[in-house]
Amino acid sequence: MNIWTIILAAGQGRRLAELQEKKQFLTWRKRPLYWHSARTFSRVPEIKGLIFVFPDGEHHLQEETIQTLSRTDNLGLEYRIAGGGRERRDSSFQGLQMLPRECTHVLIHDAARPLISAACIRRVITALEQGARGVAPGLPVTETIKQLSGSRLTTLPREKLYAVQTPQGFERRAIADSHRMPVRRTEAVTDDASLLEFCGLQVQLVEGDPENIKITHSKDLMCLRPSEPSLGRACIGWGCDVHRFGRGKPMKLGGIPISSGPEVLAHSDGDVLLHALIDAILGCLGQGDIGDLFPDTNPALENISSAVLLQETLDLARERQLILDHCDLTVITQTPKITPWKKQIKKNLLSLLACDPGQLNLKATTEEGLGFTGEKKGIKAVAQVIGRICEPSEGSI
Ligand code: MG
Repeated sequence: MNIWTIILAAGQGRRLAELQEKKQFLTWRKRPLYWHSARTFSRVPEIKGLIFVFPDGEHHLQEETIQTLSRTDNLGLEYRIAGGGRERRDSSFQGLQMLPRECTHVLIHDAARPLISAACIRRVITALEQGARGVAPGLPVTETIKQLSGSRLTTLPREKLYAVQTPQGFERRAIADSHRMPVRRTEAVTDDASLLEFCGLQVQLVEGDPENIKITHSKDLMCLRPSEPSLGRACIGWGCDVHRFGRGKPMKLGGIPISSGPEVLAHSDGDVLLHALIDAILGCLGQGDIGDLFPDTNPALENISSAVLLQETLDLARERQLILDHCDLTVITQTPKITPWKKQIKKNLLSLLACDPGQLNLKATTEEGLGFTGEKKGIKAVAQVIGRICEPSEGSI
């Protein structure tokens, strides 16, 4: 599978007309709103590239913005930019035109949903991997929904109703063919899945995410407010991890394969640096340790990429509204020499954590030939993280 993501940021944001700016361009945490979901998609290893669809005529300006952002916050994957159309389906169509030939599957996401989690993205991808041609995340409707026909009110059966979200995932050919089918303009195409439905194709529902709200009304912007730096309760986390050398897994540090290093014994991919970092983040959250969250007795976690474990930890951090302010990481080992790899590791960590270079420090040291690292029996990493928890504590108003 070769999966790309289209981020639709071409809307007019009419319901937020009181704002000076279109909602997708509002700045939150020093970045435009559309950048936040792009960041989350960029952390999902299966995603090969991104297409941003901006209002036609504004896309050159946004291209400059993205180039500027990329200098400090590189997405680490290919991206392309398209000009949107009049309606949502026209913008999706323009995005689809920009897909590279090798792309087999596509996720289409609303830029107005900046809080999408990597876990929800992965549920959509898993359904595609299992053969679904169209996938939509959705949540059961909790309110009673009534239908007004003329002056007559009827109640719809709630157990059959779902509020669908994005990203919606598609086999590329299925969505491209659906766009070619003549759809009467009177038919409501309010999402991409409905195009498949009109063509009689089945769309599979997967579990959505209550946090994945769509910024529609100005009060929705309140949900984003905890980004204000003055808010939040300070927290600190410390992590430490060790892996023994031996015939096991090729060494990885911070997600980067270290070809000059000895193999390590591990259940996952044995990335000692990411394990220490995960433990430090869990420390901030007061959520125990990596073994509690990802037990090494779980066969599903065998050989799993630690970058995936980090993503799930970051999903948890976002749920708890943890803002990471600074990370200081140290690798302690006699062998291999870390210096030649440091730049590459730091770059990857910045991409995984979506933080600025000034917020992350990476060090390496030896223990002067002493102890198990000195005797070249294993490798150690320690991590310290400070941040702020912005969710209201229990009992507060
Ligand atoms: Mg470990």
